[in-house]
Order: sequence, then structure tokens, then C-alpha cells
Amino acid sequence: MKVALISAHHHAIPVSEMGAVLVVSPHPDDETLGCGGLIGICARAMYPLSVLAMTNGEASHPGNEVWRNALSKIRQREQRNALKALGIPNPDIIQLGLPDGELNQISEARREQTLDLIRDVIRSRNIKSLFLPAIDDRHADHREAAKLLVEAVRSCPVTYVFSYQIWPPATRPRQVSVNERAYTLDVSAVLPAKRTAVEQYRSQLGFTEPTHTEGFRMPQALLDEKLRDQECFALILDLSAWSA
Ligand SMILES: [Zn+2]
Repeated sequence: MKVALISAHHHAIPVSEMGAVLVVSPHPDDETLGCGGLIGICARAMYPLSVLAMTNGEASHPGNEVWRNALSKIRQREQRNALKALGIPNPDIIQLGLPDGELNQISEARREQTLDLIRDVIRSRNIKSLFLPAIDDRHADHREAAKLLVEAVRSCPVTYVFSYQIWPPATRPRQVSVNERAYTLDVSAVLPAKRTAVEQYRSQLGFTEPTHTEGFRMPQALLDEKLRDQECFALILDLSAWSA
């Protein structure tokens, strides 16, 4: 049987027909939590897949500039290791290096530059399917990442645009708008790899320097939700209705 995303009405989108995939990750870990199963499935079949890392996640644990730089490096390494754990020996990660926690505060010039970069990525890799954070995700960086991608993709159309939800940790389909159709993907075959990938994010699981333990730690509810045998996505049906 073909591995496919399946809607409630049994409409199927085979992963083999999605073309080159771009997973958009506002912070290192979002790609694995939201799409780790999909990534693992693509890796097994050797389908082309790239990850757009919007930030390096340097703000998850507060500290001075030296600490932020160190954390940025730690999280970049964790992301690479997570993708390796999912079966991609040489992951294609495009790092935009935008400011963590401040995606919606970048200057107009940097925004335009970022949009150009994103369009370049989509065109140069012949991306056909996008996986974005949900535009109504509770985290402002996730919403802003979605807005940027929706804007970029208007001038270089792709075949499928899906969204995935991180915050609050809840299974889609929850309230999918009229402009979306919910799909689920059975990821049970790659769940052990996804679990190992999540475990690479030690900095987000409480294993940080003792002086910085006051920072973010993935809540158990998030881990429980994201380590299920199904991943849920919402296919965006009409991008023009998603004007930011
Ligand atoms: Zn995030």
C-alpha cells in the first residue's frame, strides 16, 4: 500500500507524489516534532526533502550574548543530529539565522531579503510541497514564519501547502477552517526514529547548563502529542484567502 496522507473523506495524497518537500521550521525542533514522521518516511524512500531553519533558537534559555551564541550552535547541531536520526545522512538545512522570538520585528529590508531567499530556495530545489507552521499557532514566531512563507509562495507556486500545529499541543484536525482540509499520516513505521530524533534536542529536554535551567523545557503533553503514531496536517486550499 502506498504511504499517503489521508483525509477524513478518504482522499489520499501519496507521499511519492508530493515532489520535493520543504519543511519550514521556526526553531530547531519544530521540524522534528511536527513533521518527523513525514521526514522519516521521505528519508526511507530517498525523496528529496529540505528544512528551512528560520532561526537558530538562541532565545530558548535566557542569558548573555556569549550564552546565546553557544546555544545557537548547540541547537544547530541538535537539528542536524535529529535529521540524521530520521535517516538523512547529509541533511539539507537552509539556515536563515533570523532572530529567535523576534521574527515579527525584523526590518522591512530584512523581510524583503528573506522573502527573496525563500523564493530562491523554492525555485532552486524545485520544491513542490511545503509544510508550514499553522498560521494560528500560539507561538508568534510560528505565525510569522507561516505568513512569510505564504507571501513568498504566491510568486512561485507549489503543488501542496500543508500546515502543522505545535502550540498548543493538540491533534489536528481540531478546528480546521473552511479553507483547509485535514489529513493524517500513519508514521508508526518510523516512530522509533522520530523518538530518537526528539531525544537529540537535549537542550530542550532539560539537559542544559546548570546555570540556565530556567529556560524552556518541552512539556510532557507536547512530547505525548508529538510521539503518536499519526501526524496531522491541514492542506491549505486557497492561499489567497490567507492574506496576512
Ligand atoms: Zn518553535
